[in-house]
Amino acid sequence: MSVNVEMVKCACNDCVCIVSTGNAVEADGRMFCGENCANHHQQSVGCEHAGCPCHG
Ligand SMILES: [Zn+2]
Ligand SMILES: [Zn+2]
Ligand SMILES: [Zn+2]
Repeated sequence: MSVNVEMVKCACNDCVCIVSTGNAVEADGRMFCGENCANHHQQSVGCEHAGCPCHG
């Protein structure tokens, strides 16, 4: 058996993270790598991936 895991880039503009659709945080019909990206960084800069400078 094979597992169909689809990898997509986080929908956050600045984010360079690649996330599998199974682990992604979905918001507005788009896939994000984490809560920070999903809420457009209203709370904080960066994401759960160390060194990622994204801020929406
Ligand atoms: Zn990121
Ligand atoms: Zn992200
Ligand atoms: Zn982000």
